[in-house]
Amino acid sequence: MSAVPPGCLWVVATPIGHRDDLSARAIATLRAVAVIAAEDTRHSRPLLMHHGIDTPLVALHEYNEREAVAALVRRLGEGESVALISDAGTPLVSDPGFRLVRAARAAGIRCAPIPGACAAIAALSVAGLPSDRFVFEGFLPPKSAARRARLQALAGEPRTLIFYESSHRIAESLADLRDVFGGEREAVLARELTKVFETVLGEPLAALAERVAADPDQQRGECVILVAGHADEADVDAKLVEGRRVFAILREELSPAKAAKLAAAISGAPRKALYES
Ligand code: SAM
Repeated sequence: MSAVPPGCLWVVATPIGHRDDLSARAIATLRAVAVIAAEDTRHSRPLLMHHGIDTPLVALHEYNEREAVAALVRRLGEGESVALISDAGTPLVSDPGFRLVRAARAAGIRCAPIPGACAAIAALSVAGLPSDRFVFEGFLPPKSAARRARLQALAGEPRTLIFYESSHRIAESLADLRDVFGGEREAVLARELTKVFETVLGEPLAALAERVAADPDQQRGECVILVAGHADEADVDAKLVEGRRVFAILREELSPAKAAKLAAAISGAPRKALYES
């Protein structure tokens, strides 16, 4: 791509770990714009150099946001093209950029996404938890009392919950999740995605909290916590009824173990409950 349309704000996703998770379109756009607004210019420079991008950078972070947004909207209004990036993943997702996009749109400037990595979506894609409906909760409060209060408010949420968490709070947050949501609730810890020590652990909250507390290696790096939504009692009962019906049919042709496995996969009822029925 030799040129980009004038006066456009490109919101460009960058990798969350693996440097090659930057799309060809992202690279071409970052090369072609007049300026790249970056959360931390020192952090982004090595990635940009790796991909042969030497476009000028300006900083856009929470401490200079007001002045930087005004200057960038002025440049966009004069017909320059600007790209917005954050330290990792998709800008605006627990990252700066909201005020710039809002101001640009209010000024009638075109804002166009160059999609790519996002830790929440990457984690959801491998967690094996229901993904048809989910809620992204960003970071939980750092202090336990406020964190537990937030979790209490979410305890009845039926959709899969996604949280970002810092590694030095991961053990305490998992303990609070276990205490508030109950130790039986299914959860997944997705750590260091796309990096060398990538780990995806799926267990009930009690086991997961215990394992992480006991293993300092699981308390390192960047992590996403996903928790299955609250199961409605009526829904659980309906699945069990359907599971038992399917199990009874399959049992005529298959061993109890195979019939229970298939009936559980078809109905969503727990395999153990079907096997024991
Ligand atoms: N904008 C980013 C995105 O699109 O995912 C998120 C930025 S937020 C400041 C950083 C948090 O995202 C980390 O604390 C962690 O919870 C999560 N995260 C980022 N990279 C990750 C990775 N490689 N593996 C797991 N979680 C990651």
